[in-house]
Formats: sequence, C-alpha cells, structure tokens
Amino acid sequence: MLLKELGEFGLIERIRRRTPKGRGVRVGIGDDAAWLESRKRTFLITSDLLIEGIHFNLKWTSFYALGYKSLAVNLSDLAAMGASPAYLILSLGIPVDFSAADIEEFYRGIRSLASRSGVALVGGDTSASRRFVISACLVGHCAHRPVTRGGAKVGDDLYITGTLGDSALGLRLLKKRGARLGDKNHAHLISRHRLPSPRLTAGKLLARQGLARAMIDVSDGLLQDLTHLCKASGTGAVIWQEALPLSRAYRMTAGAKDLRDALTGGEDYELLFAVRPRDRGRLEKAKRRLGVAVARIGRCVTRRAGITVLDRRGTLRSLSTAGYDHFRDKR
Ligand code: ADP
Ligand code: MG
Repeated sequence: MLLKELGEFGLIERIRRRTPKGRGVRVGIGDDAAWLESRKRTFLITSDLLIEGIHFNLKWTSFYALGYKSLAVNLSDLAAMGASPAYLILSLGIPVDFSAADIEEFYRGIRSLASRSGVALVGGDTSASRRFVISACLVGHCAHRPVTRGGAKVGDDLYITGTLGDSALGLRLLKKRGARLGDKNHAHLISRHRLPSPRLTAGKLLARQGLARAMIDVSDGLLQDLTHLCKASGTGAVIWQEALPLSRAYRMTAGAKDLRDALTGGEDYELLFAVRPRDRGRLEKAKRRLGVAVARIGRCVTRRAGITVLDRRGTLRSLSTAGYDHFRDKR
C-alpha cells in the first residue's frame, strides 16, 4: 500500500500497534508527549540526523538496515558516555511515493536493535518530504559518572575496541559496485557498514569501573575523533601504526599496508578511550566482559607535541588527519 493511501495517521497508528511499551513508559506513542518516569536521575540525551543523499543512498542500503543504523549511531553516542539507552524519539520526513511496506521494513530494523538494547520507542513526528529524512533522539541513564571526551591526561594509554576501517572499505565496495557475491571478506566489510555494532556493554563497563578517563565513539574516522578527544582533554597523542587493529577482511581487501581507511575512514562506531597506565592490569581483567576485543594503539602526550602516527621504525608518517566534515567535504 502506498503511504498516500494509508495517510499520516494511518501510518502512526500502525507504528503504535507494533511498538512494545517499555519500562517506565506511562504514556508512549499516541498523546501530545511521552510521559516517562524513572528513579535514576542522571539522564543523557543525544540526537542524530540522517538525510538521504548525504548520509545514505537507497541504492545500496535496505530499509531494514537503515532503520537499524539510525538507532545504532545514537546508541554508539550513549555507549561513548558509558550510559544505558532507554527511550527513543524518531521523526521521519518521508517521500509520498514510498510504500507502507518500506516503512514497515525500516521499523523492523529499528525494533530488532531496540529490543536487544533495552530501548523503548516512545514517540516521534511524521511529515511528507522530498527526500527521506530521519531524526532520532535517544535518552539514556547512567548510575555512575558519565565519561566525557575531556578526562585524558599526558601519559595515558589509548585503546580502541574492535577493528578499524571496515565500514569505510565496505562503503567503497558498494560505491564501486566492486563487491563480489559470495566473497566472505566483502560480505563482512559491507555488513560492518550497514549494520554497525554499538559497543554498549564495553562503554558501560569501562565507565562503571572508572577505567576510561576519556572516551569518544569513532564515527568520523580515528584521527578526526582522536583530535576531538585530545582537544577536549588538552593533550596530544602518538598512534603506533602497527598496533591498529585490522580485520582479516580488511587485510585481504585493502592490504595490511593501506591504512588510509583505518586512520580516516568513517562510521566504524568503535570506542576510543584513555586509561591510566597503572590501570592496565584492571583493564586486562575486565577484557573478557567487554563483549569486544580492545587494542592499545598509542599514548597521550603533551598538547604541544600534537598528534602523530609512527610507523614500525618510529618514523613519522605525514598526516592528513581529516575524517568527514559535512561543510568541508563533498563525497
Ligand atoms: P502532533 O500533532 O503533536 O505532532 P502527531 O499526530 O504527529 O502529533 O503524533 C501523534 C503521536 O504519534 C505522538 O505520540 C507522536 O510522538 C507519535 N508519532 C508521530 N510520528 C511518529 C513516528 N514516526 N514514530 C513514532 N511515533 C510517532
Ligand atoms: Mg506531528
């Protein structure tokens, strides 16, 4: 059925019927505002905007993956503060020629990740639009102190979860139509691009145990987000090139020597965090419970020393740090 036939309120009613209520929700979808109650008093709120043609292209993503990813990017922001997600507000601008089934698929992607991560959809807004526009706002809780970007000190170790560059490489394959069907490595890279895993368990544990002193999620490329962390903390950083964690799929596709996407590729949604050297042992013990591997990739140095990447011989690599910047880059 076309949305033209279903209408705005028909669509909202369908969404409402399929949405479970969730903890602490007194009134969810269907009134003028959501009514939520909670005894935990530290709230963290984040919001992200995804626009067709800028953030995604319907030629190489499915509605399911798009729904999933719209939530994943917000979950990643809360993970980077060490928070637990709770409530989602989702506003959509939808082209009138979309079918109701497209939007159903989109919500199926949302629900699959929401139920897994304890998120209740409690409201949103809907409008017609020339292009598909997705605005997601996520509210979370924290029973401990949230971790900001600003707590790293000179001498701290720098760690990253998971592997770097997979998503950017996956996107490259999609854009070039270079993916080979049935190639496991290609499938892995593309799936990392389409269905990123927000590191909620790791973020929460690192925060709760006071291990991460500063933390950020890597959405715009390692060097770009490292720059944000360093700026907020008033430090510089050294990154050891050979310590960067690369997936087997990355090594087989780009080659272990091509670190461009690992250093500056976007949308990995891994966590970059700073830990005091004397907490190395404690981190080692916590590792099994993080739900993802972590690698020590460098160290915080003085702000004056800036941000550098060293190769195996300790030689400085020339850097163009920049990851993605919406107003500078046209991709
Ligand atoms: P308003 O006139 O206040 O904008 P709406 O008719 O847009 O009210 O929304 C009615 C209810 O449906 C509200 O609870 C709103 O939060 C919810 N809602 C609207 N659009 C969406 C959507 N895309 N996803 C989830 N909930 C929605
Ligand atoms: Mg409305």
